[in-house]
Amino acid sequence: MDCCATQGLIPVETALDTLLSQVTPISLAKTLPLSDAIGFVLAEDICSPINVPPFSNSAMDGYAVRLSDLALSLTLPVAGKSFAGIPFEGEWQEQSTIRIMTGAKIPVGCDAVIMQELTSNSDGNITFDVTLSDIKPQTNIRPIGDDVSQGQTVLEKGHRLTPRDIPLIASLGINDIPVVHKPKVAFFSTGDELTPLGQPLEDGQIYDSNRYGIKVLIERFGCEAIDLGIIPDCPQTLRDVFLKADKEADVVVTSGGVSVGEADYTKDILDELGQIGFWKLAIKPGKPFAFGQLPDSYFCGLPGNPVSAMLTMYVLVQPMLAKLAGHSKWEAPKAIPAVATTVFKKRPGRTDYQRGIYSINDKGQFEVATTGNQGSGAFSSMSIANCFVVLERERDRVSVGETVNIELFNASLY
Ligand code: AMP
Ligand code: MG
Repeated sequence: MDCCATQGLIPVETALDTLLSQVTPISLAKTLPLSDAIGFVLAEDICSPINVPPFSNSAMDGYAVRLSDLALSLTLPVAGKSFAGIPFEGEWQEQSTIRIMTGAKIPVGCDAVIMQELTSNSDGNITFDVTLSDIKPQTNIRPIGDDVSQGQTVLEKGHRLTPRDIPLIASLGINDIPVVHKPKVAFFSTGDELTPLGQPLEDGQIYDSNRYGIKVLIERFGCEAIDLGIIPDCPQTLRDVFLKADKEADVVVTSGGVSVGEADYTKDILDELGQIGFWKLAIKPGKPFAFGQLPDSYFCGLPGNPVSAMLTMYVLVQPMLAKLAGHSKWEAPKAIPAVATTVFKKRPGRTDYQRGIYSINDKGQFEVATTGNQGSGAFSSMSIANCFVVLERERDRVSVGETVNIELFNASLY
């Protein structure tokens, strides 16, 4: 038996597997206009109804030419114009050129567009400063369907829409977007010591910082946040709020009260109203994390210490919400080897997620330094960090020069 088993702590990987295996993705879909669809997960593939571009067009301001005309003379009269939105419509006489602008339709028979900078205009006669053999057919022509062809699957079901996808979908002319409903996540802080912002602190009180971090992460993870406030350490009040949250949301997230203190009621209430999936992980910080099910929702009980709360949201709740949201393309941050430029204090027994500051040295290698104080209540370490330094369960103190794995913060922390 390893030390985690003897202490009854569940390895993070096991906890994550268990948690994900119990979550069924939301299937309820709706249609949104494109401008409201950012951050939603696609409920169906997006296939293009048209070619993009829908017609061959010019990539330059210049002159449309036929190579057979240029073979006879490098000076040609202008036969007409093709502007963006106003194509050339006449008959293109032999031995002439057509003035053309960027985005304008390519006239029938055109082999290439010669950029304006390679021409000179004398009384409507255009002289081309080119060598004919250097002009390749289709130069400066963007062919029909060059970007997207009709019928092509552009984005797949399960993809979460980013700002980069929105203009792409607009270019296809699609405005009705089939999306999965965002998971609703109700959350509250527990603790008699917690004071809302805007009020002076009484003796023994602290400000409720977790609720602010939890809310922003829920929204960054692509979910709808339902803030149920600060709840005192009172079993009856907690029970009522648990039930209210369970009714309103797909997931209930609490902070605090999940450890073994005399005012820690979260786990008992979860046990009473639903089922505990697991409790107490071999992770540092964040050991007292509880997962379970309430009658109509999943439950995640975060530890009260602020770094632990945010870390467990990031490492455990984030992938769970991604699965629930149907975001099948979601990927966990990748481990990158980095050379330690400072000592990292550690004892074997739990996987440490220490806060680090990485940089890339002049050899192109990742290096990482500690942020200093790694206390689970010292939140400034999260604020100044740009990565987690993930130290394996059985690893001991890390000396300068050793290689460690780092995980760069993903977009949810920026
Ligand atoms: P608990 O998990 O309730 O035992 O709390 C552990 C530590 O986290 C204690 O020092 C609490 O005061 C602190 N804490 C609990 N909830 C919050 C919160 N919402 N914001 C900031 N600190 C908290
Ligand atoms: Mg508490």
